[in-house]
Amino acid sequence: MDNLSTQKEEQVLQGVAASPGIAMGPVVFFGSELVTVEQRTLADSEINREVETFCKAIEKAKTDLQKLVEKTALSIGRESAKIFEVHQLLLEDVLIVDETVKRIREEKKNADQAFLEVMENFEVSLESIEGEYLKARAADIRDVKRRVIRNIQGNAHPRQKKLKEPAIIFAKELTPSDTVNIERNKVLGFAMDFGGRTSHAAIMARSIKVPSVVGLKKIGQLLHTGDFVILDGNSGVLIINPTLKTIDEYKRKFSDYRNIQNKLKHLKGLPARTRDGKDIELSANIEFPDEVKAVKESGADGVGLFRTEYLYLTKSELPTEEEQFNEYKSIVKSLNDQPIIIRTFDLGGDKAPKAISLPPEANPFLGARGIRLYRDEGINLFKTQLRAIVRASAYGKVRIMFPMISCVSEIRYCQQVLNDVKDEFRKQGIPFAEDIPVGAMIEVPSAAVIADIISQECDFLSIGTNDLIQYALAVDRGNEHIAYLYQPYNPSVLRLVKDVIQKGHKNGVWVGICGEMASDPLITMLLIGMGLDEFSVSPVSLLLIKEIIRRVECAECINIVEEVISFGTPDEIVKYLRKVMKNRFQDLYLLF
Ligand code: PEP
Ligand code: MG
Repeated sequence: MDNLSTQKEEQVLQGVAASPGIAMGPVVFFGSELVTVEQRTLADSEINREVETFCKAIEKAKTDLQKLVEKTALSIGRESAKIFEVHQLLLEDVLIVDETVKRIREEKKNADQAFLEVMENFEVSLESIEGEYLKARAADIRDVKRRVIRNIQGNAHPRQKKLKEPAIIFAKELTPSDTVNIERNKVLGFAMDFGGRTSHAAIMARSIKVPSVVGLKKIGQLLHTGDFVILDGNSGVLIINPTLKTIDEYKRKFSDYRNIQNKLKHLKGLPARTRDGKDIELSANIEFPDEVKAVKESGADGVGLFRTEYLYLTKSELPTEEEQFNEYKSIVKSLNDQPIIIRTFDLGGDKAPKAISLPPEANPFLGARGIRLYRDEGINLFKTQLRAIVRASAYGKVRIMFPMISCVSEIRYCQQVLNDVKDEFRKQGIPFAEDIPVGAMIEVPSAAVIADIISQECDFLSIGTNDLIQYALAVDRGNEHIAYLYQPYNPSVLRLVKDVIQKGHKNGVWVGICGEMASDPLITMLLIGMGLDEFSVSPVSLLLIKEIIRRVECAECINIVEEVISFGTPDEIVKYLRKVMKNRFQDLYLLF
């Protein structure tokens, strides 16, 4: 450590704080799919074998694609399967195949390098042409490129990496499935070039309690495997080659941070009740079943958001009804009658299922995502999941929630399919709870505006602020370049949230927030003042939020809302909230 810190200059880089905590250790680069191609000059004796390897890789890619065409046609529909037929066609393209073979033979390049060059040239020429259609085809090229290179290298899952010792993982970009697949017990922290605070990889990092900084932009160019770094997931700072002085400073911070957290532990068995007696439901968000133990230990009132996408992100086969039923049942049972809100799958956007490939889209977050995948042939996937959830309802307090609702007909559609499932079970004598509460996620502005009408169709509303912010402000939640515009404190966002709560209450339904905004201590008093009934937070933030709830009175929170709602800019709001909260919670402020 001493050597490292004195040999090289310290560099402090600011990114986006994505998951709290402080980590120190060596960096390991998480293998990105393509940059691992290494150029070699072939000996003459190797050339024929290399051409043969390339041809076999192409044949294997075609066979795999054919299987994907069939699987996708069955599970999603013929239309979606066409995308893989396009990929197959690309592999038939003599220009691509012949040009690669030529580079292997004439330039003596290894097959993966030769193919990479050919495909990249092709990609660049498509990207430079005006028009969304051709730009989208560039994404197909990238997909095919990865597939064939993986085959050449004989490595079916190049991104699964074994760590020899605990390390901080650096990746340009981790997909949610990378985060799921990575060996968790050896990961000290995540640092990423891409992403924002609510990108799904960041949320998953929080759920597995790994300190993380994202949106570091081009930091990959400054780092090397083995570099010693400090990663501060509270302030979003990454320090490369820290000096001894900095290391000491962070060791102190780390221990202060731990001390405050230890002090909060006594709250576990206590209710989230304000000083003037208002009970608030404080639940936890989970991404994986094995978090339930942590949820129970954390003193949560239950699970306010169980994201079920992991079932589709980790396995190359679609999860069956039986598999899902067993998963849900065991979670529901282990919660001992505490409620759990199971959200039906919200695939699409940045969550690509492994078993089926969704067609590439120019704007995935505005495309076939969440409920939009439940219609047509997608109904089978949806119904399979609903059947499993409804069966699990016989074992505890299950609530169901649907993602990406944007209009009344969508919530009606989901209710209809749910009723069909229940009817079938009644006829078959399969046990389930008759009165499963059903909720709509309010995360699309159109739904927020008509939350009074949507709430007539369901039992509760849960505001998905992660998406509501991105759609209301037109700011991609995962784009590091515009992360400064992704503003939970934007007056438009706060007004929307306040409106939704009021509209839900007018119809007598309770309203919660399951987006990351609920985990932000700076905003807790404001949300209490707005009348929020339920906070569903990351388990790492639960005790801090509980402590704030227990120390305040509703009347003072309402005053804060009245003050804040008159401000016109996020800066004014943040400044005001910082001042209020710092005065009020000096002893906890390091965690804010
Ligand atoms: C949200 O959008 O706030 C939400 C909770 O859902 P997700 O983050 O999974 O999109
Ligand atoms: Mg969402």
